[in-house]
Amino acid sequence: MKYPKLRELKEAVISLVTPAYTSRFPAVEHVPFPGFRGKPVVDDANCVGCETCANVCPPLAITFTDDREKKIRTIRRDYGKCIFCGQCQEHCITGKGVRLSDRIYDIAVFNRADNVEYQQKELLVCESCRAVITTVEHLGYMHRKLGPKAFASILNLSVLNSMLKLAEGQDLTARPSGTLQRKDMFSIICPNCLRQVTVKYLFKGG
Ligand code: SF4
Ligand code: SF4
Repeated sequence: MKYPKLRELKEAVISLVTPAYTSRFPAVEHVPFPGFRGKPVVDDANCVGCETCANVCPPLAITFTDDREKKIRTIRRDYGKCIFCGQCQEHCITGKGVRLSDRIYDIAVFNRADNVEYQQKELLVCESCRAVITTVEHLGYMHRKLGPKAFASILNLSVLNSMLKLAEGQDLTARPSGTLQRKDMFSIICPNCLRQVTVKYLFKGG
């Protein structure tokens, strides 16, 4: 019992004559150590709105809302909930859509809404059943990754066709309605509807 008390006394005396261990923030700007995980910063040009980061975010700080009528996906990132785990950065499919800053750490606010950021991306919606397929940018990213193999997908071909306006001057107002027809393979339809058309008209010879 005697020795620990002497040791504590010694430490108290030493601490009186040594500088403080803590930094003088906010009077003096704090410089984080290398590898510090700070606020996630989104690079919208390299984010395709694929939803992956929302699926791996442990506290659900990232959420998505799809408006099928307006064909808009809204991505909401609430940094008030963020635990700076880095999962969004690690699993981002483009590798550049979001990165944790090694500088931004001071994100305390009086109004929680000030810590929420939004992005919007154009959605691809099935013209037959109105299911959400993905975002236009996500499909474009997959095109670039797959190269010529992307043309094995009729959906990819149909989207590319509409992007390049190859059918310009033709009447494209007709949308799939009621029973899917064979021609609907070349509309923007989801994999489920495409499978129905394929089974019905190609394998059964309808
Ligand atoms: S760092 Fe972690 S908690 Fe924060 S947004 Fe990314 S995945 Fe979510
Ligand atoms: S995973 Fe990357 S590309 Fe996909 S939505 Fe998140 S930040 Fe954007």
